[in-house]
Parts: sequence; structure tokens; C-alpha cells
Amino acid sequence: MKKALPGQKEVFIYESQGNIAVWDFFAEEIIEAVNKGLKNDPVNTSRESIVYREIYEWMSRYLKEGATEDFLDDLNSALNNIRYSKHLLTSDLIPWENGYPQNGYIARYDKTLEPEEIAADDFSKLLSSGMLSRLKQCQLPECEKFLLGPPQKKWCSKSCGALSRVRKKRKQDSL
Ligand SMILES: [Zn+2]
Repeated sequence: MKKALPGQKEVFIYESQGNIAVWDFFAEEIIEAVNKGLKNDPVNTSRESIVYREIYEWMSRYLKEGATEDFLDDLNSALNNIRYSKHLLTSDLIPWENGYPQNGYIARYDKTLEPEEIAADDFSKLLSSGMLSRLKQCQLPECEKFLLGPPQKKWCSKSCGALSRVRKKRKQDSL
């Protein structure tokens, strides 16, 4: 089983088809997958694609609304069907505080879970672990890609930045 990341306070564990696994989450990877799904033509209807499209919706809403009560209400409704069972965590998974086993919960990902529910679960884990604090959307209007970056970062890529600068200059030149 995978170890928790350094400094991680919570381990997210799920069981799928009899296997227990730790959800290892790198926000960068999820964002990359979400971005990749944006311009799928024809629209990919695989379960995985639906999950990423749903995560995209949650991220967009989060950037617009923030973690308001309404937002969390909707997120909680989407999470409502996920069942958990209690599980004591071994010390190789997460350091034991005061030498005692830590409490954990296993999310039951069985076949009855909809991709929408998996997406809400993934998004909520990113949100609660603070991984979306640097989330932003590329400022080139037609790009729509998400990125993680410092406040001054505006574009997802050099090409989006270059295109925005060219446009700005053209606008100034035409004044
Ligand atoms: Zn971009």
C-alpha cells in the first residue's frame, strides 16, 4: 500500500472490487487529465471522461463561487451515496500520533457508484486537503484550462501568454 505524503493529515482509502487502495492525489495530474478532456471531439463517453468533465464543472463553480454554503450543500448531496467503513490505519500508512493507531475510513467504491459521485469525491478530497488553493483558470478566454500557480501567473502555457500579449498590443495599436 502507498504511504501518506509527508505532512499529510488524512489518508483517503477506498475499496474497489475487493482491493483496498490509497487514493494518491497529485492535483497537477488531475488537472492535466481534466484539461485534456476539454476538447474531446467527438465527446468521449467513457466513465473516466465523465468523471473528469464533472470535476471540471466543480472546479469552475468553485472558482466562481468559492466554498459557500450552497456550494458545499450541492457537493454533499453528490457525496451522499458513498458509504464508508471504519478502518484502523497501520503505522506504515500514516505516522501514529502518540503511538496509537490512527482512525481512518474506507470509501466503498462499488459498481453502483455513478461517475458523478466519484467526481464529487475526488473534488472534495482536493478541496479539503487544500490542494486547490492555487487553482486558477487560464486568462485566454477560449482556452478554459485550469492551472495551479502563484497569483501573478495568468496563463496555462507560453503560447496562451504570447497570444494574449499580441492581442493586447493590437488593441493598443488600434487606439
Ligand atoms: Zn491557456
